[in-house]
Amino acid sequence: MSRRLLDRVTRATRAAEEAGLAGILVTPSADLVYLAGYDPPPLERPTCLVLRPGTEPVLLVPELEGPRARGSPLGGSLEVRTWPDGDDPYRAMARLLPEHGTVGASDRMWSLHLLFLQREAPELGFVPASGVLGPLRAVKDEGELDILGRAARATDEAFRRIARDRIEGLREEEVGERLAGLLREQGLDGVNFTIVASGPNGASPHHEPGGRALRQGDAVVLDLGGRVGGYCSDLSRTVCVDHPPRGFREVYDLVQEAQEAAFGAVAPGVPAEEVDRAARDVIGAGGHGDRFIHRTGHGIGLEEHEGPYIVEGNREPLRPGMCFSIEPGIYVEGAFGVRIEDIVAVTDTGAIRLNHATRDLELVT
Ligand code: ZN
Ligand code: ZN
Ligand code: ZN
Repeated sequence: MSRRLLDRVTRATRAAEEAGLAGILVTPSADLVYLAGYDPPPLERPTCLVLRPGTEPVLLVPELEGPRARGSPLGGSLEVRTWPDGDDPYRAMARLLPEHGTVGASDRMWSLHLLFLQREAPELGFVPASGVLGPLRAVKDEGELDILGRAARATDEAFRRIARDRIEGLREEEVGERLAGLLREQGLDGVNFTIVASGPNGASPHHEPGGRALRQGDAVVLDLGGRVGGYCSDLSRTVCVDHPPRGFREVYDLVQEAQEAAFGAVAPGVPAEEVDRAARDVIGAGGHGDRFIHRTGHGIGLEEHEGPYIVEGNREPLRPGMCFSIEPGIYVEGAFGVRIEDIVAVTDTGAIRLNHATRDLELVT
């Protein structure tokens, strides 16, 4: 484990150097988990991994968290430096950095920490570290792909079970709780979210499950995700209670076709935006272009949403090992929504789906 992490630290430091950065600051976040396997809570007392080309990495932590940091996966392999309460941690951080140049700051670094650091290091410029860390995190290694596959399969199974369950008459929030229970039953060690959007609520892509009871003729958007070993899953399916509402079939078929077209467009070297375009072209040709109100997908890994974003304007070429969602949707105000989402992984020749729950329309009872 620690070898794999040290290799990541080395690659991140090299990438920083190639990008002309004088260093990278990594505060508690998925970035820190990725690089150091260390996951302390983000607090007002700063914790920061400082990477600088040409010098050894230093993990700066509050004194009271020293034991925890030293006991973390890289705690024995890199220098853990502590600062005591009462001292100025920003001065300590600034001393680990050059006086001039540009430094990458982890995207999740609190503005509190960055602003105080800027006061101590007025000559330094700062840019988001995602410019360097994003491309590294976006390409998953075999171990990561394996765990993402496990998370996806468990999530598929939770969906299959809810589709066989009797859910007519239940409130959205009850279905959401049932889904959360099924996700845990399937071996996920955490539930990130469950969206249950029935009938007209389906027209809101990030609907918060509420008190509306599911009834016959409802379309229901189910979107669920959890974690295995820190890695996320994310699956959407749209089912109908007893029978589809009027006008639904045509819309469903279009979304399914768009999802297929986008999947077919995935291959190494293809710009991310082309996958978005493949889905959008199908939905546009079907006359529902203005009802597809979000990007086609997002990368997934230690975070539910991360790069690469499958969106118009992202010309970043896809690379083998990248994992992301393909989730076109059509949202019909006042009536229903449809979204079909799978996680896919780019291979050397094309792509594979990590989700295998049926994409054909399921009628539930
Ligand atoms: Zn979403
Ligand atoms: Zn989703
Ligand atoms: Zn998603």
